[in-house]
Amino acid sequence: MADNLIQRTMSAYAYPLLIKNLLQAPVIDDPQQQIVYRDQMRFTYAEFRQRVCRLANALTEIGVKPGDTVAVMDYDSHRYLECFYAVPMLGAVLHTANVRLSPEQILYTIDHAEDDYILVNEEFLPILEQIKGRIDTVKGYILLQDGQQQPETSLRFEGEYEALLDAAEDHFEFADFDEHTRATTFYTTGTTGLPKGVYFSHRQLVLHTLGVLAALGTPAEQGRFHQQDVYMPITPMFHVHAWGVPYVATALGVKQVYPGKYAPDTLLKLIAKEKVTFSHCVPTILHLLMSHPLFAETDLSNWKVIIGGAALPQAMCKAGLEKGIDIFTGYGMSETCPILTLAQITEKDLEIDDEVELRCKTGRPIALVELRVVEENLEEVPRDGESVGEIVVRAPWLTQGYLKDQRNSEQLWRGGYLHTGDVAHRNKQNYVKITDRIKDVIKIGGEWISSLELEDLLCAHSTVGEAAVIGLPDDKWGERPLALVVKKNNTEVSEKELLQHIRSFIDKGIISKEVVLLKIQFVESIDKTSVGKINKKALREKYQNS
Ligand code: AMP
Repeated sequence: MADNLIQRTMSAYAYPLLIKNLLQAPVIDDPQQQIVYRDQMRFTYAEFRQRVCRLANALTEIGVKPGDTVAVMDYDSHRYLECFYAVPMLGAVLHTANVRLSPEQILYTIDHAEDDYILVNEEFLPILEQIKGRIDTVKGYILLQDGQQQPETSLRFEGEYEALLDAAEDHFEFADFDEHTRATTFYTTGTTGLPKGVYFSHRQLVLHTLGVLAALGTPAEQGRFHQQDVYMPITPMFHVHAWGVPYVATALGVKQVYPGKYAPDTLLKLIAKEKVTFSHCVPTILHLLMSHPLFAETDLSNWKVIIGGAALPQAMCKAGLEKGIDIFTGYGMSETCPILTLAQITEKDLEIDDEVELRCKTGRPIALVELRVVEENLEEVPRDGESVGEIVVRAPWLTQGYLKDQRNSEQLWRGGYLHTGDVAHRNKQNYVKITDRIKDVIKIGGEWISSLELEDLLCAHSTVGEAAVIGLPDDKWGERPLALVVKKNNTEVSEKELLQHIRSFIDKGIISKEVVLLKIQFVESIDKTSVGKINKKALREKYQNS
């Protein structure tokens, strides 16, 4: 058997897939390429490499060792990018702490991940003040700040980030180690129970980077990320490594812009000033940008944006295309590193509505992703664009379980496939379309209704800004759908008008007749999760008696 194994010459180098190797090419190819942080900082890739070394020296100096866990609590910043590299390159684990969880949940994640050190932005000090008496594992804190003023806090720091970097050597010899070493960990914001920790190795992050690089780098035109692009994330870096794109952007050697705390006007101004051409965000953030007065006057005709984390509504996609934005869907989850599919289109000369439909599909699996849409018994459903089942996947970059949680890990991986909990259909061209989360599916009299499809249809009405559809218990039908609708500014519409709008789709046979049971409630806002997605669990609880 072993005859087929690659034999290694004594002196041959067995190249490990380590995060440090993502820096090989870009720093040498174009050392003058820029990394920008708001209007506060601008440095080159050559300096970035030195800053990563300085950070590694500073962390080592305060006691960070291979195997330790280092948490970061920051907005999207150049500092965070440096931590994406320096911490795992030391052999330590980077815990990208979700700062939008409640203090008690943050405490839980610090404790559960066994954080040894925390780098904390001064704005999040009040959270740590609240829980510090109960943090057991942490040996030291590093202060992250944009200004110079000493913050008022009882926390003691090993030092301030920039001062520590200034004092450190700009060279560090990063050792080789096993590519299966854990590099990152973070917690799913799970709508039920306690947050669950997922984790990724160097090998997984390198392969994810290469997989995404290939997927984004190879299309002829649409949905392409290339060396002349300028990248800015608008997804928090704690949310699945900002979808892994900072690693992709750095490996590609593009100019990168980090926006700090998200505010629509800052984001739009940065896009204009720094000539940003490539971003990614959840629909809620794009909705915020689109609703801002600056949106109309900002030229976005060179901007490409992947929308993921939740379904891209067709109305939003169309508005984006009309503005000249190359807007398309990406899909994945915390457990999957995250990217599994992208909705890049190869079809030419499409009518706008057909193009919108394709861009709003969940997309096609990228290289190396084995994606199946299956019944309970793991049998695939027909690829007819109608039959629905659960998406299960295999790929080189999926979390191998939940941290210290055997029971849920086995459940996640039952039958040898990672179960996404997403319900979808797929067509012959391999386009997948998610119709719901299993937990959010609405079942009316035995009929499955897609809440995402209903939301899409509601959003297509000119007065609807946002919509969320949930199922509520019903004695007769099992469940009935309730739509929560936020009207667009300065528009008026009645429940009757919206129901008529929906009925027209029932009459055309586009949606099932059970939808006549739909009720509509107008609300000021719709509850969101910590990463800005519609929080259906909270909505079901809040509106259970509606
Ligand atoms: P999270 O782990 O917080 O990133 O959430 C992952 C979940 O978000 C997935 O399991 C999907 O239910 C949902 N999701 C992500 N991307 C999409 C998408 N493009 N379309 C529909 N749902 C999505």
